[in-house]
Amino acid sequence: MSSTRVSVLVPLVGPSAELPSTLEAIESYLHATGFEFDIRVLDRRDGAGYGAMLRRGVAEAGGSIIVIVDHDLPYPMSAIGDAVALIQSGAAEVVFGRREARPGDLLLRTLLVPILPDRALHLKAFSADAARLILGETRLRKGGFDLEAAYLANKYGFRVECLTTHGGKSASKATFDIWSGLAAAAAIRMTDRRNGYRPPRRCLVCFSSEVWSIDQIPGNVVRSCSRCKCRYLGHFDVVDDAGPVRRVLRGQMPPADPGDETIHRGVARERTSQRRLAALRRHLTSRARILEVGVRDGSFGAAAAAEFEYVGIDRAPSVARAVRARGLEVYCSTVPNFVNTGPAFDAIALFHVFENMADPHDALSRMKDLLKPGGVLLLSTFDTEGLLYLITERRWMTQNFRTHLILYSRSALIELLEHSGFEIVSIGAELEYRDQRFLRHSVATRWPALMPVMQTLFRILPDPLLVPSGSIRIVAKRRVGSPVNFRAIPSVEPTHAR
Ligand SMILES: [Zn+2]
Repeated sequence: MSSTRVSVLVPLVGPSAELPSTLEAIESYLHATGFEFDIRVLDRRDGAGYGAMLRRGVAEAGGSIIVIVDHDLPYPMSAIGDAVALIQSGAAEVVFGRREARPGDLLLRTLLVPILPDRALHLKAFSADAARLILGETRLRKGGFDLEAAYLANKYGFRVECLTTHGGKSASKATFDIWSGLAAAAAIRMTDRRNGYRPPRRCLVCFSSEVWSIDQIPGNVVRSCSRCKCRYLGHFDVVDDAGPVRRVLRGQMPPADPGDETIHRGVARERTSQRRLAALRRHLTSRARILEVGVRDGSFGAAAAAEFEYVGIDRAPSVARAVRARGLEVYCSTVPNFVNTGPAFDAIALFHVFENMADPHDALSRMKDLLKPGGVLLLSTFDTEGLLYLITERRWMTQNFRTHLILYSRSALIELLEHSGFEIVSIGAELEYRDQRFLRHSVATRWPALMPVMQTLFRILPDPLLVPSGSIRIVAKRRVGSPVNFRAIPSVEPTHAR
């Protein structure tokens, strides 16, 4: 039997002739589901408005799931069960019952948030934490309260789902119409502007509280910081219980075998790795020590090990094992767990790995400690201020956050690196080699009309092809000397390079 306790709140907002039968129906339904439950009827005590009524109800409710239902129940009872199930399964923390989208709400959605509750339905469900935070912060007394709850659910990063219900017309009158809705929207925006609501959890990168949910992906929300333009997941499920991993010192590596296949022009990945190594080479002396964080297929490692002393770490055991099998010095470790028993490194390279680190400030300070003063950090990541990213953002949101936790903007990275004891040497677009096969497939699926032209082009162009990947490559140096003379960057400027 489940230990979930459901608190059902029934606000009385209209004529309530059907109330006794509603309560009876809810009671017998919840009995059948096996949940513990309590039902409260909320009346207009002391002439309190709808908002005040619900705030009082939630404050007194003891359940772990709080459901607000209409007193005349204009939907099948299973809608309540569905709402409870959505919260209980963790698919959402806030559920709004909705009948159909109204075109009039488009303006309100633009002014507030994309997901709004239905104006004529009171059906809503909250997890207890969400209810206490959201309803505790609401200020409005009347119908705009529903809009305020939707706005705050987004502000505090709760995952909101809409539950479409079918059924007869509700006897409750709409909680807001277009005019009172607009007035409420203005009031909400003004309260927020005056910092009338508790600030949300601060941005992980720049610590600003100007943070919003910009999209929802399965099981999570994507938060966006309006100051530094970074995007990150609402919650990270990072399990990191591994112990320290020590580097084992080896003797001098034999010189690279000229017959090594990685020297030959090969697939796109290898050529990309060569290109990346070339960017690093001009900052290094021969036999410099390079640490790569996140070794992927080992192509960079193989290229780097031919000229330099190479060490790789990767947190995935299978990846580390596979690359170690190629004869490279690779450990299964994360940056915080890696203990370098040898001399400090001359360079650290991260290719699309920094986005997977849950604490960028900690990771950078640890990488700084692994580098010798003046050592080079080569970082390639997506750029959320880049044109390619902005065009494809919405379509690729789920894909982008499948493995990544934080996506950075160019300006945020500059600020982050400068505050972490690095100085920026150069920033540029990261060009990567792509197989024509891969490009042909993307064109065929996305813009089939362009295919005949592209076919001709592909025949002329080399394979693999060098294309912009929407990423940037930053080269930074560990600042020499004490970090006392660093200059805080007063504003976010994409072109700020020093
Ligand atoms: Zn930020």
